[in-house]
Amino acid sequence: MGSHHPECPDRLCAIQDRLIASGLDICLAHHDAPLAGVEALERAHSAAHVRQVFDQSPASGIVHLDPDTAMCPGTLRAALRAAGAGIHATDLVLSGQASNAFCAVRPPGHHAEFGRAMGFCFFNNIAVAARHALEVHGLERVAIIDFDVHHGNGTENIVAGDERMLMVSIFQHPFYPYSGDKPLAGNLCNVPLPAGTRGEAFREAVSTRWLPRLQEFAPQMLFISAGFDAHYEDDMASLGLVEADYAWVTTQLLKFAQVHCQGRVVSMLEGGYALSALGRSVTEHVRALAEL
Ligand SMILES: [Zn+2]
Repeated sequence: MGSHHPECPDRLCAIQDRLIASGLDICLAHHDAPLAGVEALERAHSAAHVRQVFDQSPASGIVHLDPDTAMCPGTLRAALRAAGAGIHATDLVLSGQASNAFCAVRPPGHHAEFGRAMGFCFFNNIAVAARHALEVHGLERVAIIDFDVHHGNGTENIVAGDERMLMVSIFQHPFYPYSGDKPLAGNLCNVPLPAGTRGEAFREAVSTRWLPRLQEFAPQMLFISAGFDAHYEDDMASLGLVEADYAWVTTQLLKFAQVHCQGRVVSMLEGGYALSALGRSVTEHVRALAEL
């Protein structure tokens, strides 16, 4: 993305470092992410968008797709691996080779719409994975849960009106990308939160807004857009979640999945830019998923 950009390679180093330091890393099965194919990407994106990202990929230097979103020569392969990670994780979970999965990927995906890249995102990793579960594995209903501090406008754009999918989310509002307060369709449960919201109100939103909608929808698998930029220490935004809130919401979702979806959960990294807080929060998220 260029120097001094918050969406930087150090994010994944911070996660790996903390997973190792916590002792959790050696308990996990690690998988390399394959490259997503065009056919898989086109389950969530227009052919024109996929072609445009390929066409804009520079041989050298940096190309900007929007003021926040730039490609260097390695970006396309990274974006294909980020999307491929969700597909591979979905295959592992649905074949019973993994009980659930967390994908430590970048670039993130939830701002990428059907027809455009934006907000550090090129392909909508979580929507590509969820559509893969529906269209390749034949699931009939899947839910996407998004707790990134930013509204997942791209995922909403792709999911809106697809009755096989439910999206539940929280996000700081009003805040970038200045959408989500009026959901685009009935299969969206958007919970805007004002700046300054702390864990207690977040947990109440999960308990009173998300979980009843999830129960009513009865998904067969959960996909989590796991952004950690709502953390108190993350100055990208102004919410006040801490590690214990991420552990709590993960446990709530895992318990739901164990009762209703045979435990099937695939979680994918979205935002999270305060490196220490990101590493600690992901570690608690993964610890909750692994029930360790
Ligand atoms: Zn974010």
